[in-house]
Order: sequence, then structure tokens, then C-alpha cells
Amino acid sequence: MNRPSYRVTELLGDGIGAELSEAIHRLADRLPVRLEFLPVDLRVENRRARGDAVYDEAVESINETGVALKHPTATTENSPNAILRRRLNLSVIHRPVYTIPGVPTNFRQELDLDIVRIATGGTYDDPGRMIGDDGAVSLRIVERGPVREAARYAFNLARRTNKSVTSSSKHTIQKATDGLFERVAREVAGHFPEVPHTTELFDALLGKVIMAPRKFQIVLVLNEYGDFLSDMACGLAGSLGIGASANLGFDAGAVVRVALFDAAHGTAPDIAGKNLANPTAIFLAFAMLLYQVGEISLGQAVKNSTLDLLREGTRTPDLGGKETTQSFTEAVADEVARRVAANAPTAAGAPETAPPGS
Ligand code: NAD
Repeated sequence: MNRPSYRVTELLGDGIGAELSEAIHRLADRLPVRLEFLPVDLRVENRRARGDAVYDEAVESINETGVALKHPTATTENSPNAILRRRLNLSVIHRPVYTIPGVPTNFRQELDLDIVRIATGGTYDDPGRMIGDDGAVSLRIVERGPVREAARYAFNLARRTNKSVTSSSKHTIQKATDGLFERVAREVAGHFPEVPHTTELFDALLGKVIMAPRKFQIVLVLNEYGDFLSDMACGLAGSLGIGASANLGFDAGAVVRVALFDAAHGTAPDIAGKNLANPTAIFLAFAMLLYQVGEISLGQAVKNSTLDLLREGTRTPDLGGKETTQSFTEAVADEVARRVAANAPTAAGAPETAPPGS
């Protein structure tokens, strides 16, 4: 049988990056699709030795494959993340934030939010200036293009995953900027009549996410609101370092042109090479990559297998468990393979069992 085949740029990183890369390959080998990883060495020695040429190579490869998985890199003379974001024009960040079993949290409710944040503009592109000694001013920039790109991404995601979209801003006060944002969100919503769309004032949203988190699924927000909301939501989930995100660049038609997926945590130099690294975040990033290439049920299998094993107590030492990077990876790979086999079409063409929940 011909397995579907995908090319993926893999950006190799520092510290625990090598172990995480090995874990990804072990998992990918067990999937019923062929993934051809094209490595680009972003380790600090190579960055120092080759300078800009490393980034040229990365950008060329990602432009060609359209999807990249990035391992953590040490921030030294410069930040590879910032350089790639700028060079690939990654204008939108998709950050799913959900309760991760085994991660201690003060919050008692289950959280499952997809934050889609416009990563440019807002108040962040202008550091402002003093007016005399006692006043200061800065510009707040909202542009139709990036808002449309983010909105289309959010609504497409909602369509694929059967979720609703909430756009959130302070349009009652920031009438021009946030008003434009909401107008564009509504225009895009008009092309997705089957996707429920609501709006919430941003201050009210913060309160409601805490009081009734299940009311919200995909939240579309401008740059600074997304920044605040992501950290608040991560704090609620207790998972500042265990999540993953997609960094997205778009073509002129607001269709995703390139997508770079990475874990939120860093290179963990204190445990590098000890077989202690927790691969959860890179597996969650990999699950998002599978969604992006259209392998939705495989992405769900990777995400749900990882979370279900954590829930059952199969955990690495950072979460109080005894598993090594390798044994946790094997457990996830076995579980994914089991779920894939259980859902493979039978001779009659129907899955043998119900698909796992999302
Ligand atoms: P860190 O996230 O690397 O480590 C913080 C703590 O969390 C450490 O105790 C570490 O052992 C632990 N930890 C992190 N990831 C883990 C994992 N997968 N499994 C188990 N434990 C894990 O943050 P840091 O120490 O502040 O930064 C180290 C380096 O990483 C710095 O050079 C920093 O610039 C870089 N960094 C890179 C990225 C990225 O590439 N996306 C993100 C953050 C930090």
C-alpha cells in the first residue's frame, strides 16, 4: 500500500535537542505515513561557524517543505527564533493551552483553549517616544492583512476541528483599531457560516475564561491581548514550559504558506544527555504539525496518547515519574500504533472501534 508522504524541515537544536530529535524519529517511524525529515543544523557551534548561511539554509528548506519542527536552541549572540520569525514573516502564533495531566496547577477546572494571536503590530511595533520630560506617546498599529490571515486561520481550524471562534478586543473604546479588527473578523466569519462566532470584550473574556473556561474554544486576538491571554492561560494550566506553538506565515491569499512548530521550553542544559528530557511538548508540537499537513486523526492520536499516558502516571522525572526519555517515547509510540491499528479501516471500510476523543 502507498503510504502518504510528507517532507518536513527539522531544525536541530542544543542541549536536550538531540534526545528530542531521536524521540520524534522513533515516534514517526511507527506512523502509517512516510515523513522525510530534512535536517538543518541550528546548534550553536554551527551557527557560530556558518553565520547567516545557516539561516539561509533553514529559510530555503522551510520555504520548500512548508512545514518545520524546531528543537530548542540556546539564545547566545542572537535569538534563532526571532531571526526565523522575521525572515519567514511568521505573523501569527497559534498556541493551544490545555490542562496537562500530571502538571500541578492551582486551577481546578479543565482548560482547553486555542489562542490565535496576531504576532505583529498592536502596541509592540512602536517603542514610543517622550514628549518633554513628563509625557510619552506610542502608536498602536492594526492592519487588515495580518488580521485577515489570523482570522482565516482561526476559522479554518474551527471548521476542521468542529470548534467555535471568539474574537476578543476592546472595540467599544479603541474604536478605530479594535473596531477594524472586529470588522475583519466578522467579514471572514461570513465565509464560514457553519462555524459559531461570538465576540467578547477582552477584560470580560479574562474573567470568563477563569470562571467558565469551557465556554471558549478558539480565541482570536490582537498581539498584546494574545500575549497576556497566553501567559494567563498557561498559568492556569500550570504548564508554562510544557506547551507547544505554531508560528505561521501566509501567502497573498491569506493561506498558510509556512508553519513552524516548536516546544515552549528551552534547551534544559542541566539534564542534557541524561535521558531525562520530557518529550511531551515536542510530541504536542508534532501533533500540530500532523494537523497542518491534513493528518487530523493521526495528530489526535499522538496528542491523546501522550496526554492519556501522562494521566495514567507514565511520566518522566520532571513530572514526578520514573520514565526516561526513551521509555516514555516507546510507551507513546506503542500507544499511537495501537490506536492507529484499531482505527484502520476494516475490509468493509469502517473503523473497528470508535475514534479516540479529541
Ligand atoms: P529551560 O526551559 O531550558 O529550562 C528550565 C528548567 O526546566 C530546567 O530545570 C530544565 O531542566 C527544565 N526543563 C525544560 N525543558 C524540559 C524538558 N523537556 N524535560 C524536562 N525538564 C525540562 O529554560 P532556561 O534554562 O531558562 O534556558 C536554557 C536555554 O534555552 C537558554 O539558552 C535559553 O535562551 C534557551 N531557550 C530556548 C527556547 C527555544 O528555543 N524555543 C525557549 C526558551 C529558552
